[in-house]
Amino acid sequence: MSEISTLPTTVVRPGDKRYPALSRGFNQRWIAEPEYVRLVRTPEEARAALAEAVHEVAVDPERTRITVKSGGHCYEDFVCGKDVRVILDVSPMCGVSYDGDMQAYCVGAGATNWHVYSHLYPVSGKALPGGSCYSVGLGGHIPAGGFGLLSRQHGLTVDYLYAVEVAVVRADKSVKLVVARRDDEDERLRELLWAHAGGGGGNFGVVTRFWFRGLPEPPKQVLLTALAWDWKDFTKDEFTALVTAYGEYFRDHQDASTAAGKLFALLKLNHVSNGQIGLLAQVDVDDPDGPQAMTDFIQAVDGRIGPAATKMRSVMGEHFVHMDIPRVMPWLTATQTLNASGENRCGKYKSAYLRKPFTRQQIDAMWAYLGKEEYTGYVNKQALIQVDSYGGAINRPLHDTAVRQRDSILKLQYQVYWTRHDAHEDDHLAWIRDTYRATFAGTGGVPIAGGDVTDGCYIGYPDTDLDDERWNGSGQPSATLYYKDAYAKLQEVKRYWDPLNVFRHAQSIRP
Ligand SMILES: Cc1cc2nc3c(=O)[nH]c(=O)nc-3n(C[C@H](O)[C@H](O)[C@H](O)COP(=O)(O)OP(=O)(O)OC[C@H]3O[C@@H](n4cnc5c(N)ncnc54)[C@H](O)[C@@H]3O)c2cc1C
Repeated sequence: MSEISTLPTTVVRPGDKRYPALSRGFNQRWIAEPEYVRLVRTPEEARAALAEAVHEVAVDPERTRITVKSGGHCYEDFVCGKDVRVILDVSPMCGVSYDGDMQAYCVGAGATNWHVYSHLYPVSGKALPGGSCYSVGLGGHIPAGGFGLLSRQHGLTVDYLYAVEVAVVRADKSVKLVVARRDDEDERLRELLWAHAGGGGGNFGVVTRFWFRGLPEPPKQVLLTALAWDWKDFTKDEFTALVTAYGEYFRDHQDASTAAGKLFALLKLNHVSNGQIGLLAQVDVDDPDGPQAMTDFIQAVDGRIGPAATKMRSVMGEHFVHMDIPRVMPWLTATQTLNASGENRCGKYKSAYLRKPFTRQQIDAMWAYLGKEEYTGYVNKQALIQVDSYGGAINRPLHDTAVRQRDSILKLQYQVYWTRHDAHEDDHLAWIRDTYRATFAGTGGVPIAGGDVTDGCYIGYPDTDLDDERWNGSGQPSATLYYKDAYAKLQEVKRYWDPLNVFRHAQSIRP
C-alpha cells in the first residue's frame, strides 16, 4: 500500500487497456466514454482530483458531467452515462478501522459490502446491516439507505451513520473537504450528514469516508433455508395463497425483539419460464426461539399450498442456493453463502414499498404477467419480482434520517436481465414495464408514496421511468416517490452544499 501511495494518482484515458473496464458499470447497459477515469486513494487526492476536474474545460460540450464511482452497481446511467466527462473512482479507498477520536468505526467510501463484512467482523464482532451482494460499494449503498438480511433485526445501515467526509465544490469553484457529524454544532453540517442518510449517492460531493457508531453484533449462528416450488404445480388459488401468506406473516411479525421479528426472507416470484418460484430465509439461532420461528414461517407459507417444496434448480436474480435441508452456520459463513451479485449483464429494475399484504388486484396482475395470462410466449429465466421482508427494527429508527419509508412490511424489487447484444432487449424492457404498471394500475402505474397499501420507491433501486408519463400517471414525480416529505429539505441541502450543481444525474436532487 505504501509503495502504491507514493505513485502519482492513476489516470486512465482512452487507449489504456484498463479504460473499457473502468468506464462501465456492473450493469452492462451503461458504458461511458469519459475523457478520463481517475483512481483516488486518499481523501486529499479526492479533493485535489475534484478541484482539477471542475477547473477543466470540457472538450465535448455533450460530455460535461463529473461522476463518482465506488462499486459501480448503479441501476441507471448515473455514473457511466454518455454525457460523462470525468469519472472519479474511489474504489482504492477501502480501509476499515476504529477511530478513537470519533468513537466510531471508519470505512473508506470505496469499500465493498463483502470487504466490510470480512474485515470488520473478524476484528470487532460487529457488522453493518447492509446488502447481501458482495460487490456493491459503500459509496452508493450507504447514502441510499442500504439494507439487508440483518435489517429487520437491527435497522438500516444509515441508522448507524455518525459522520461522513465529503469533498464539496463551493460557489467560487474552490474545493474543500468537510467532515459532517450527526451532532455537529454547525446546523449546515448536521444537515449534510442527514442528507447522506437516505438522500442517495451522487448528489452533494465526493464522499471519502463514513463513520458508524453503535454498530450491532450479528448473531453467532443463523439458520439458512432455501427452497423452491415448481410453477407447473400452481393454480391461481395456490399462487394467491402463497403470496398472501407471505405478506400476512410479515404484517403479523414486526417486533424485532422476537425471533420471528428478526427473520428475514426473500421470495423469488420468477417468470414461469424459469420453472420455479424460490424462497430464501434466514433467522438468528442464538435466539432460542429461532429454529421454531423458521419452522412456523415455513409452515405459514408452504403449509397453506399444495405444490411440494423442492430444491432451487437455477439462478434466481442474484441468488442460487442449492440446499438439501436448512443449515445452521456461523453468520459470516451464511453471509458468504448468500454473497451473490449475479453475472455482469444488462438489467432493468423497479421497486415498491408495501405497507400491507398484496391486494387482490396486485395478485391478479402478478399471476397474469409472470406468464400465466400475459407474456405467455416470453422466455426469460431471469425475469422476476423479488419480495423482501421488511420492517421490524427498520420501522423504529434510532435517529432522524432522510429515509421516509418507515412503516412498510415488504419491499419489492422487479428485475429483468439479459446479455449485451441480445436482440430482444425491447421485449425485456416491455415485460418489466408492463408488469409493474399492471401491478399498480390503481394508482397510475406506480406504488404511490403515502398510499393506503404502497409507499413509494427506493432510491437505491433507481428507475428513470418514474419521470416518464408513459409509465407514471400518478402525478407523483420520482422525487416524491423516493423521498416523500424529505425532498424539500434535501433540496435546501443541495442548494447550500452543491451550489453549482456539479453532482447531477437524471434523478439527482434539483437545487
Ligand atoms: C447485484 C446487486 C445487489 C444489490 N443488493 C442490494 C441490497 O441487498 N440492499 C440494498 O440496499 N441495495 C442493494 N443494491 C443496490 C445498491 O445499494 C445500489 O445500487 C448502490 O447505489 C450501489 O452503490 P455502488 O457504490 O456500488 O454503485 P455506484 O454505481 O458506484 O454508485 C451509485 C450512486 O452513488 C454515487 N456514488 C458512489 N460513490 C460515491 C461517493 N464516494 N461519493 C458520492 N457519490 C457516490 C454514484 O455517483 C451513483 O450516483 C444492489 C445492487 C446490485 C447491482
